[in-house]
Amino acid sequence: MYIVSSCLAGINCRYDGKNNLNEKVAKLVKEGKAIPVCPEMLGGLGAPRDCSEIIKDQNGDRKVITENDEDVTTEFIKGAMKTAAIAKIVEADKAVMKKNSPSCGYGEIYDGTFSNNLVEGNGITVELLIENGVEILTVDDLD
Ligand code: SF4
Repeated sequence: MYIVSSCLAGINCRYDGKNNLNEKVAKLVKEGKAIPVCPEMLGGLGAPRDCSEIIKDQNGDRKVITENDEDVTTEFIKGAMKTAAIAKIVEADKAVMKKNSPSCGYGEIYDGTFSNNLVEGNGITVELLIENGVEILTVDDLD
C-alpha cells in the first residue's frame, strides 16, 4: 500500500486551491493501491491558504512560516503526525510525495526566502515518514 500526496491524485488541496494531477498516482488510488493524504489540510490549514516555506530559527530549529510571516509550524507538525498515523493504519511502506513542498518535498525544498530557490532537505511530513521506515518516492520513480 502507498500513501500519496493528495494533490498528485487530483484533489484541489494546494495552497492556491489547485492540484498537481499525475495520472499514474490517480491510477494507484483508483486501483485501491494508494491512500491520498494532504498533511497541510490534515493539520488544519484550508485551501487556498498562504504559501509556506521552511526556515531555521536562531537556534537552528526548523520552523514553517507563511509568506505573510505567520508561524504555521504547529499545523505542519500536526499534519505530519496524522499522515504518519494513517500510513501506519493502512500499513503503507511506500509514499509518493509531491516534490519541493515544505510538507511533502523529498531531497529538495524551497529555501525559505520565497524566491523559488531550492536547497537540500525534506518536508516536515516526509522527514517523519522516513523516521517511521516509509520509503519515499516521487512521480519520477513511477515512470
Ligand atoms: Fe500536495 Fe502535500 Fe502540499 Fe498537500 S501538503 S498540497 S499533498 S504537496
